[in-house]
Amino acid sequence: MSQGYDYDLVIIGAGVGGHGAALHAVSCGLKTAIIEAADMGGTCVNRGCIPSKALLAASGRVRELRNAHHLKSLGIQIGSVEFDRQAIANHANNLVSKIQGDLTNSLKRLGVDIIRGWGKIAGMQKVSITTGDGGEKTITAKDIILSPGSIPFVPPGIEIDGKTVFTSDQGVKLESLPEWVAIIGSGYIGLEFSDIYSALGCEITLIEALDQLMPGFDRDIAKLAERVLITPRDIETKVGIYAKKVIPGSPVVIELADFKTKEDVDVIEVDACLVATGRIPATKNLGLESVGVELDRRNFIPVDDRMAVRSAGEVVPHLWAIGDANGKIMLAHAASAQGIIAVENIVGRERIVDYRSIPAAAFTHPEVSYVGLTETAAKELGQAEGFEIATSRSYFKGNSKALAENEADGIAKVIYRKDTGEVLGVHIFGLHASDMIHEASAAIANRQSVQSLAHLVHAHPTLSEVLDEAYKRAIAI
Ligand code: FAD
Repeated sequence: MSQGYDYDLVIIGAGVGGHGAALHAVSCGLKTAIIEAADMGGTCVNRGCIPSKALLAASGRVRELRNAHHLKSLGIQIGSVEFDRQAIANHANNLVSKIQGDLTNSLKRLGVDIIRGWGKIAGMQKVSITTGDGGEKTITAKDIILSPGSIPFVPPGIEIDGKTVFTSDQGVKLESLPEWVAIIGSGYIGLEFSDIYSALGCEITLIEALDQLMPGFDRDIAKLAERVLITPRDIETKVGIYAKKVIPGSPVVIELADFKTKEDVDVIEVDACLVATGRIPATKNLGLESVGVELDRRNFIPVDDRMAVRSAGEVVPHLWAIGDANGKIMLAHAASAQGIIAVENIVGRERIVDYRSIPAAAFTHPEVSYVGLTETAAKELGQAEGFEIATSRSYFKGNSKALAENEADGIAKVIYRKDTGEVLGVHIFGLHASDMIHEASAAIANRQSVQSLAHLVHAHPTLSEVLDEAYKRAIAI
């Protein structure tokens, strides 16, 4: 325990980032407190990963059981499949309560002090806490980790009423199933909700301002994903178009304009509208000015790869920022990994985050996953550093397990350096892609080459043989 401080470590924000940091801090022997102003578990547990995956699990099952053609090909026939919207919503809500309870108990069991209230930096190594009843106290800590997370971004012109026009915060509650829903944004959140709503029988208009759907994904993956996840479903797409104005009500009125020319193109009336246009950091009112820290131009907290907060190019001693609030990678596992890295540096073991090996997934049916660089980014890196890249692809339609499941739509794409064979990126679209990505993530973390990976042995018949095949094709075994 550090002499002269109330705590070795105080963490502001008990989302998955703060939680991951707290668990690791205790294992390193640090006396730790965590401050939370709202729901323990933050976005992931209450309004993000957990409820959305519960909805995807239930709606995915409905889609599967209603796919008579697919079932028939496996020799199965069933009658009509009914579902209860409220019961599906309850499944998500119950899971949220369970995981929130588990997370809180794990902190209590380990002796982390949980302080409820709004935490703010009050000078070097000092935190003030305003509690719900207006009380205020100040505590001192040798180190402080900021983990305040993020909130949905709502573009100007869009009015949220939480009922007919809403963000994922309300969407995960599944309070209604609108007959016709517009989804603004085709990133992973928009895509997952279009999977849920289309499985449960809603008609969808998917609006994307950029000139292609799923702009964050590798192009080959996005193209195939569009053919499987969008085209055959009850989803109309409007690409290169943005929602200039959204007025809640019955109906919801959406004014659409061309994203490049800003000219009006159409007005549509729908039953509901989900706004999934990205997330912004929750970094207001954190008292950062008291230690001379300025946010970057997008309001993220500037950090280095050790997660130390930086101000005017200098490290601010004993101040760290992790998770969505620093904007490096806005994903749950990235937040908790950053929490662990910050604690490692606090206890004097210098470590940095290896962003290239952090995987990501969209839990649609089938799933999308990736790790490392897209082909475009790899080409740019190659040009900057003077190497050429190559790609190798393999297909689920050549995989026995995928064929046995009769779910053979899918591809794995490996991007690697031509000279050394080092894997730079892996992208998968297909059944269980989110579970398959981790061997690629480990390979990238260890900077392995396609030559060495092609000699690994995969169990037969498994979906992971798709990746095995891609490695083998890269070196033409
Ligand atoms: P948060 O989880 O946002 O937690 C921050 C916490 O800090 C909050 O509880 C907040 O109340 C508290 N706080 C803020 N300021 C203060 C203060 N001053 N004092 C006290 N407390 C404060 N990621 C994945 O990896 N996989 C997924 O499948 C996935 N699905 C998602 C689905 C949806 C619909 C959404 C919205 C997000 C999803 N994410 C997913 C992203 C993931 O939820 C976030 O990346 C993750 O929650 C970030 O964790 P965090 O700890 O940085 O912040």
